[in-house]
Parts: sequence; C-alpha cells; structure tokens
Amino acid sequence: AVSIQLIQCGKTFANGAQALQPIELAIRPGETVVLLGPSGCGKTTTLRLIAGLEFPDAGGQVLFDGEDVTGLPIEKRGVGMVFQNYALFPNMTVGENIAYGLKIRKIPAAQRLKKIDALLEMVHLQGLGQRRIDQLSGGQKQRVALARALAVEPRVLLLDEPLTALDAKLRETLRADLNQLLRTLGITTIYVTHDQSEAMALGDRVVVMERGKIAQIGTPQDIYYRPVSHFVADFIGTMNRVTGVAGGGQVRFSGGQLPYAVSAAGSQATLMFRPEDVEVVADGMGTANMHGEILSTFFLGDRTRLHVNVGAGQAVVVDTGRSASWQVGQRIALRVPEHALLHFQDEVAA
Ligand code: ADP
Ligand code: MG
Repeated sequence: AVSIQLIQCGKTFANGAQALQPIELAIRPGETVVLLGPSGCGKTTTLRLIAGLEFPDAGGQVLFDGEDVTGLPIEKRGVGMVFQNYALFPNMTVGENIAYGLKIRKIPAAQRLKKIDALLEMVHLQGLGQRRIDQLSGGQKQRVALARALAVEPRVLLLDEPLTALDAKLRETLRADLNQLLRTLGITTIYVTHDQSEAMALGDRVVVMERGKIAQIGTPQDIYYRPVSHFVADFIGTMNRVTGVAGGGQVRFSGGQLPYAVSAAGSQATLMFRPEDVEVVADGMGTANMHGEILSTFFLGDRTRLHVNVGAGQAVVVDTGRSASWQVGQRIALRVPEHALLHFQDEVAA
C-alpha cells in the first residue's frame, strides 16, 4: 500500500473562489482516512487533488510513496474512484461495467470474466453479471461502482459520499460491508462524507474540515472525546452548551453551577458536554450541579433522550437508560462530572 502526502496544497478556482487554503496531510499506507465536514468545506476538492482531477495552486505538491505526482493526470496515478451518483454506464451490463477498465487495458476476455466473478463475490453480487444497470437498486449500483473501481487494482481508493444517495437502512448495511472490505484489502483509502457517524464507523483517522481548512485530524475517539475547537465539538455528535458567569472555579447560571476554572473571572463562559455524560441523580443527594424541568422526552429504543430546561432560556439534552419513565414538566436533578466538561477559547460569546 502507498502513503499519500499533501504539502501546502491549496486550490483557488478560476472564478476566484478559494475552495482550499494550503493544507498539509499525511496518509499512511493502507490507512482509511475520512474527510468530514459540512457542505462546501472543500472535501471533494481535496479528493480531486489526490485523484488528479484538479491540480493544486502553485507551490502545492501531491506525493504518492514519496514520489511527486502533482502534475500527473488521473489515469497515470493508479487510483480508483466511486461517486455519490454511481456514474455507471447505463447501457452496459453489470459485468461490462466492472470490466470496462480491464478491457481498455487489453486484458484477455477469459481473464476478465474470472476477475468479474471474483469482484462480484467481493461486493456480494454473485450471479448478477448479466443484469442491466437499470434493473439494479441504488445499493446494488453502488456495489457495482465499487467493484469497477477495484477491478483495475488501484493503489489508492477514493470515495466521494458513496452512501449519501441511499436510504438509512441500506446505508448501514453497506457501511458495514465497506468497513470489512477495506480492512481485508488494506488499500490506502480516502473517504469523503458529511455524515459524522459514517466517518466514525469507517475512518482509522478522521480529518475534520471547516471552510477550506483542516480543523482537526485524529482517530474517531480523538475527535469525539478530545475535540480541539468549538467547531469540531459542535459538528461531531450531539453537544450541549450552557453559558454562565465564571468565578471561583465554577461557571454559574440560573439552573446550576458547573465546576470549571475559566481564567477570566466575572466574564461569560460557555461549557460543553455530551448528553450521555449527564447523570440523573436522586433529589436531596446533594451531588447535583444542575436542576431543571423536563420539556420533552424521546424514547429511542436503546435509551431515552430528555430535553431539560435549566433556566434563562437554556435547554440541555440528557440521555438516560431505557427503563425509567419520565413526565414532561417533572423537575429533575442532574450532575455533569468535571471530566466531561469542555471549554474553548474560540467560543463566540452569546
Ligand atoms: P464539499 O465537497 O466539502 O461540499 P467542495 O470541495 O465541492 O466542497 O467545494 C468547496 C468550495 O469550492 C465551495 O464553496 C464550492 O462552491 C467551491 N467550488 C468547488 N468546485 C468549484 C469549481 N469548479 N469552480 C468554482 N468553485 C468551486
Ligand atoms: Mg463534495
């Protein structure tokens, strides 16, 4: 497997739009790296720079295994690509689609057929080689697109939101299959998505992007538990925030006081914490550091999610076990442990 390096890779389009500020990114051999971020943050542009479908602004470099491929077009880079909209040839069969790249490379027919069978099995589409593309479901089409990308044995696999067009249930099945396949193949993979749960499930490492820049690079655990900025904390998962006045090692607000030493005493400070880190405590125990009134309850099967009004127009999300029964309007005592609290200097004052 190959390593990939982006060195000072920026991209400004002809219309003057700066899609990407010069970024640095080092991808290890065989690693699956997910580019994650909101629409328009530069994920596709980054992927296309790696593919050779776009070229970086002057000074930028793309290296594969230390070799400079910056000026090479896509067909010289040995990459396989899968897109959100499949981009299959509609008037060819499944087999013909998969073998397209092999035919161009003048691989003999007998060898092509063998390869098609192996790839169909790999993507769980055994026996469908003769099907027409328009007779396939969305999920099957995406499996064909994946098989086609892998047929030419690329050095690098690039996927741009491949599951986004599929419904939720199918997305989860394909995500699991893809996860297994990528681990088996050990091919260096870059996967683009705006879906944070997909990113967490598939990435060895996740690159969180924000407005043409890299906000954080880390394992899924890093970005979930140790976000480096307000933006990352907010983008990944559900995050609570309460704003209060800092002082005496605490942040006080109408519904409670949370332990946090913010340096500028007397100023406003916002603390963030995850719904699953909030504990419901029995009233009168004295361990609560936040009180409120239940605004709404959501039974989610594996847990119950509460929205709790903690006063002064602030509400927090609390996840509790599935057994308890809660009433809207009920008073509730909560405790957020100190280790679960996050505070960022880049927080914009409310
Ligand atoms: P993402 O994939 O994260 O949604 P893109 O990389 O597609 O984002 O786009 C990043 C920014 O660059 C967007 O503001 C987009 O409008 C702009 N952009 C992308 N491609 C082009 C192009 N060919 N010409 C001009 N602007 C572009
Ligand atoms: Mg995109």
